[in-house]
Amino acid sequence: MKRKPARKTVAKVKKKKVNHKYIFVVGGVMSGVGKGVATSSLGTILQAKGYKVNLVKADPYLNVDAGNMSPTEHGEVFVLNSGLETDQDMGNYERFLNQDLSNDDYMTSGMVYKHVIDKERSLGYGGKFVDADHIREEIVRRIKHAAVINKSDISIIEIGGTVGDYQNIMFIEAARVLKFRNPGDVQFIMVSYLPIPGKIGEMKSKPTQNAVKDLNSHGVQADFIIARSEFPIDTKRKEKIAFTCNVHPENVISAPDIDSIYDVPLNFERGNIGNILLKALNLETKKSSSGLNEWKKFAQGVKNQSEEVNIAIVGKYFNTGDFVLTDAYLSVLEAIKYSCCANKVKPRIHTVNARDFEVRNPDYSILDRYDGILVPGGFGETGIEGKLNVIHYARENQIPYFGICYGMQLMTIEYARNVLGLSGAHTAEIDPKSPHLIIDIMPDQKKKIAEGNYGGSMRLGLYPAKLAKGTIAQMAYGSSIIKERHRHRYEVNPKYIERIEKSGLIFSGKSPDGTLMEIAELPKESHPFFLGAQFHPEFLARPLRPHPLFNEFIKASKKNKKIAIVEGSMAMV
Ligand code: GLN
Repeated sequence: MKRKPARKTVAKVKKKKVNHKYIFVVGGVMSGVGKGVATSSLGTILQAKGYKVNLVKADPYLNVDAGNMSPTEHGEVFVLNSGLETDQDMGNYERFLNQDLSNDDYMTSGMVYKHVIDKERSLGYGGKFVDADHIREEIVRRIKHAAVINKSDISIIEIGGTVGDYQNIMFIEAARVLKFRNPGDVQFIMVSYLPIPGKIGEMKSKPTQNAVKDLNSHGVQADFIIARSEFPIDTKRKEKIAFTCNVHPENVISAPDIDSIYDVPLNFERGNIGNILLKALNLETKKSSSGLNEWKKFAQGVKNQSEEVNIAIVGKYFNTGDFVLTDAYLSVLEAIKYSCCANKVKPRIHTVNARDFEVRNPDYSILDRYDGILVPGGFGETGIEGKLNVIHYARENQIPYFGICYGMQLMTIEYARNVLGLSGAHTAEIDPKSPHLIIDIMPDQKKKIAEGNYGGSMRLGLYPAKLAKGTIAQMAYGSSIIKERHRHRYEVNPKYIERIEKSGLIFSGKSPDGTLMEIAELPKESHPFFLGAQFHPEFLARPLRPHPLFNEFIKASKKNKKIAIVEGSMAMV
């Protein structure tokens, strides 16, 4: 009879329990230098080394979520599966990790303060004195909770704002305390900027030194410095930063400007940041970075296409220049990139102001130059008639058209006006007195709006849809049931569905109970691609998982390819 191994031996091979690890990312010198992309990239790298990573965004603003923020003020509102409306950085996190995030991965000062105040009001602190310490502890609790919920090995927490702001001090204080209590398990990374002033022509490290000192004054020492600059940082300056900022030279990572954000993880890995970080956290290092192979293939593919497609985005958030455009429609632009890569083309994006098509005799011929036209989500009246005119032109002139949310509602209205002959057809959002409310509010939402509860009247987050067999949508997904993220208040009016479908526009996606219209399309025989989705497919598009509807749109645009046009456009990588 075989003897059982002695207990002792079993105990010996038992894996050592490793503490959970935390990495805090803070910004130094100035905002807008890519802290979010740096955070996401660190996630990609550590994930590729076999660790389970979760990313947390701690935003200093007092808004309880990003739902009421204007895209021109704060960039796109990114919606999670749960329906939580968050900051656009969460989109980057999901895309770089190829992982869905949850409410636990996002906090604002507003959420934290509200929780503490609500708890105090309901006697949750048992009559004790409640002060800023409770805010700090609530932040710590949330960070730890996110780690537990995600069952991760490493949490990377991005603190919004810049060191020196008074608005984010509570988050820095929470991070300090977490390190004090778990000294071997916490690392601080400062993403800083080294300017090269024109007249001086030399990379200056002083602002970074000052930012590090500022962080020191909060009791926190940066362990790593990601040195963002126009050019790579040379050895001399690396050593100077190391010496003056009290970090190891190895921990100063060069991060020069590059064309594509998808190169950032690969660039960071050139400085071996993954293993240095793991060593600093007392975690096992991994020599190979083969985990990044698929990412590398994508990052190269997205840049290395020679053929271009010209995509027009017809919107209203263009008045303040390209900066606003890229931020307001960030996920749409990214989704286009992934599907272009999958279709072996490079996108050239043209921003078309909808209002240009509201003048007396608009110059429609300009639209002939585009291989595909997209109308993204939106709210309100501005540019509506212009968008309707563009959609009309795209439908009649066989230009591939993709309508997202508002873009789908408007294509249905355009169809009702110009094919069904229902003049004055509209949406209740703009013209509630229209004789033909093609897009209307659902009864249960009407009540909420009447009570002034606008936020509560939105349909937010993941909902299923059933797809009709043999349609473009169903073939694209290769499935008859899908789940997509929503953010809208209005719906296609059930009263008109039969008439619309009879005249040719098919609702190929519907809610499982058949009441809500999720996708509208014209059959392939009558148009190369004329499709709209009530949901936001862009929120689920990922570099390593391009979205089926964007894939089809780009495929049709590629087929429709005309001339090469460059002026007034952006080549995207
Ligand atoms: N304004 C429309 C609605 O609320 C569409 C919203 C959107 O495009 N996200 O239904």
